[in-house]
Amino acid sequence: MIPLTGQTPDELAAALAALGEPAYRARQIFEWIHRKRVLDFQAMTNLKPSLREALARMFSLRSMQPVRDIDSSDTTRKYLFRLHDGRYVESVLIPASTSFFGERSDRHTLCVSSQVGCAYDCKFCASGLAGFTRNLEAAEIVEQILHAEEISGERINNLVFMGMGEPLANLRNVLKAISIINADWGIAIGARHITVSTSGLAPQIRKLADQPLQIRLALSLHGATDAVRERIMPVNRKYPLDVLFDALRYYNERKKQKITFEYILIKGVNDDLEQAHVLARRARNLNAKVNLIPYNTVEGLPWERPDEPTQERFLTALKTDGVTATLRREKGHDINAACGQLRLRREVEEGKIALS
Ligand code: SAH
Repeated sequence: MIPLTGQTPDELAAALAALGEPAYRARQIFEWIHRKRVLDFQAMTNLKPSLREALARMFSLRSMQPVRDIDSSDTTRKYLFRLHDGRYVESVLIPASTSFFGERSDRHTLCVSSQVGCAYDCKFCASGLAGFTRNLEAAEIVEQILHAEEISGERINNLVFMGMGEPLANLRNVLKAISIINADWGIAIGARHITVSTSGLAPQIRKLADQPLQIRLALSLHGATDAVRERIMPVNRKYPLDVLFDALRYYNERKKQKITFEYILIKGVNDDLEQAHVLARRARNLNAKVNLIPYNTVEGLPWERPDEPTQERFLTALKTDGVTATLRREKGHDINAACGQLRLRREVEEGKIALS
């Protein structure tokens, strides 16, 4: 069965034509899915019963099942979804006034996954611990939003690709999902409220720059020099900072939106003032903002977060150097809201993966 949540009205219209149905039916059906958020053909009362049945035979509206919903004490909520092949992905909802980037706002942000596992092996991250399994389909990305809204009763109006996976390594499906999420006939989240976060795949950053959509780009930098970045992010050997920043400049020339640098503060690794000053210079050159994120400890990994005075000192150094910077006060630490941790536990429990 084809997951309809990953399709466009034109694609559906082609299937409807084969059933002898007019093209405007596609719009009606997408209105049910995306305006009324009805994920059940039988409830689509302006379609005749025989068409509802034909659609139900051809298309699925739920390509994954929510299996767990965890509240954190600070109102972030984490959802675990079971995919059709028994794999798991997770999404994190960050409701209004506990915005992802530390400032108060009326944003309802969902952090979505783009892959099962991750191939990039960042040394501090839970997602890569068990390696890469597969790309998510466009429908599996779109449905994380539809299901999170159904479960929470909230309308999501801000989206970040900061869950599991490297979105730019699954660019085709991610762009298809974004086109559905952004479309007026779709979920209708404005492009400026969609952020794609990357570990730094330079060629794909250039491809993204050539796309017309004005979505936002966040770069997971985490080290201001090659020596520091290489130690924690193997991808830096493939795309060292010179190559990466050439791609970012190319992106900047084509887009109106400022780039954001994400910078996890890890104790004794990247939290010294020398890194802060090099980071500030890099940010100023690109007119980028910096989000500092105190490291979330991961079971089985040796890294720690620096104490608060060290975090504040790093932030102050950036600001003194003239950079727009924020320090993300903790969200969801107690529910392992850093990417990958919940799914990892479940798949280990079920024997799908083993950790070495
Ligand atoms: N692969 C993409 C998107 C997924 S990770 C990327 O690298 O940007 C989303 C963000 O969470 C990244 O900035 C990543 O470095 C960060 N992250 C991963 N593990 C973390 C942890 N344990 N604590 C804090 N941030 C973490």
